[in-house]
Amino acid sequence: MHPRLAADHDGLPLLLESVRQHAAEVLGQVAERDVVPAAPVPEPDPLSAEGVGARAALEEFIACWEPVLSASAGPRYLGFVTGGTTPAALAGDWMTATWDLNAFSSLDGAGQSLERETIAWLRSLFGLSDEHHGTFVSGATMSNTVGLAVAREWLGEQLGVSPAEHGAAELGAVQVLSGSAHSSVPKALSMLGLGRRALIPVPTLPGREAVDVSALEQALREAEPDGPCVVVANAGTVNTADFDDLRAIAALRETYGFWLHVDAAFGAFAALSPEHAHLVDGLDLADSICVDLHKWLNVPYDSAVQFTRRPDLQTAVFQNAAAYLGPLGDTPDLAHLTPENSHRLRALAAWFTLRAYGRDGHREITERCVRCARALGTAIDSMPGLRLLAPVRLNVVCFTLADNPTADRLAALTERLADEVFLTPTVLDGVPALRAAFSNWRTTEADTRRVAASLRAALAAL
Ligand SMILES: *Cc1c(COP(=O)(O)O)cnc(C)c1O
Repeated sequence: MHPRLAADHDGLPLLLESVRQHAAEVLGQVAERDVVPAAPVPEPDPLSAEGVGARAALEEFIACWEPVLSASAGPRYLGFVTGGTTPAALAGDWMTATWDLNAFSSLDGAGQSLERETIAWLRSLFGLSDEHHGTFVSGATMSNTVGLAVAREWLGEQLGVSPAEHGAAELGAVQVLSGSAHSSVPKALSMLGLGRRALIPVPTLPGREAVDVSALEQALREAEPDGPCVVVANAGTVNTADFDDLRAIAALRETYGFWLHVDAAFGAFAALSPEHAHLVDGLDLADSICVDLHKWLNVPYDSAVQFTRRPDLQTAVFQNAAAYLGPLGDTPDLAHLTPENSHRLRALAAWFTLRAYGRDGHREITERCVRCARALGTAIDSMPGLRLLAPVRLNVVCFTLADNPTADRLAALTERLADEVFLTPTVLDGVPALRAAFSNWRTTEADTRRVAASLRAALAAL
């Protein structure tokens, strides 16, 4: 054994103790450090031949890299849609790396069983029936990709061909209809050989990001002569957290043939709050569903789940036939269900947080995030220099400058905020804007007041 590796092996308990101490220190300060530090990132070093040992590597990481890392696990990082990591999820993630299982095959199957138990809990959390089979993937982009891959195979089934066997060209041109699709949908269509241009935008309701269901019906009628198509419904858009009417869209299947995929990356969590559950009414009717877990479940990156009612089509696409892997059977191994072959036991962090806090604990996180978003919305509404661009429907506040809202002026505003709060820019209906998305378990009403106060101060200095 290399001497440094042998020394780390012998000193493992002490090493882990140092890591534990340091992690506790980092997390103890995460709420107070600069949210996005301004320091320049270090110059890359060449690979060392000798190595320095794990303790020196830790010290170097602390000295060189930690000062430039953002506090995205902290309570006022409101950019994109970013979750934190609950204490139990962190413990689960440590255990994931500790056991370092490859949960892909029933030849050594306990990891898969743990994932399936976790999937059942998630189904219950989001009000899905047992008809939905679920698999863990690395993020909502992958979840949308897998859902649309199953949709692609369903289109083939309708036409009597198999794109998985003969290629996507068998399908001819495919139409994917959606109101306000996330950018990961055209990316998925590109990866799946359907092409970004398969995505056909359908008009949304006036002043909304939710699809106009009568416009969708018209688009389906026009698409009908070209064969079956795919509808991507959106449950929680990133700009304004708007929701399509899922039940009304699903009802259109009585008249038109289409696969219904729902992108509920963070919106699925509305199901946890009795006051907001109506937003995802009808979610269970979908043929496939995307839910991110590294956002609002507050497990570490990278984690999401993909649900579908047609695991048979999923295995048609993703089966990895090899002599050393078992036969497909009734419960196919995870190696046959997603783009990956080896499969991190990423379910364990979700298992820990769901076991530790249950439905009620996670409902409290969801409802507190929504309360914070509303409070910030009310505060912004009262600031003469700012203007809300949409009502706060769930956990996202979308707003802009009341006067002259250029991207440059908004960037100047966020730069002044960077120590205290991180917001990301967007454009809504041609208007440059900012969004604040609440999805971290650490964020409190006090943080929200701090964000409002920083916004007021930054506006005054603009
Ligand atoms: C975040 C998000 C995605 C992409 O998620 P990743 O986890 O970054 O791949 C897709 N759709 C919606 C609605 C999202 O909010």
